[in-house]
Amino acid sequence: MKKLGTSRRLDELGRVVVPKELRERCGIETGDQIEFFTEGDAIVMRKYRGCCVFCKGTDNVKIIMERAVCAACLQKIKDEQ
Ligand SMILES: [Zn+2]
Repeated sequence: MKKLGTSRRLDELGRVVVPKELRERCGIETGDQIEFFTEGDAIVMRKYRGCCVFCKGTDNVKIIMERAVCAACLQKIKDEQ
């Protein structure tokens, strides 16, 4: 794990601001869903990369109406209309 030399204070509701440079580096944008993991006593977070509810694929998955859908399945849905 790489130390970044930055720290932020957790507020009374357990919230913390993720530094902009980290969000940009990881491709995290406002409204993205985040998933959490633990590694020893550390908390690791990353942009949610769930699997597609239709094909179970993990490439180019976006969250649409709170469901993970891959770009290929999304295109198939659009083609059906
Ligand atoms: Zn899919």
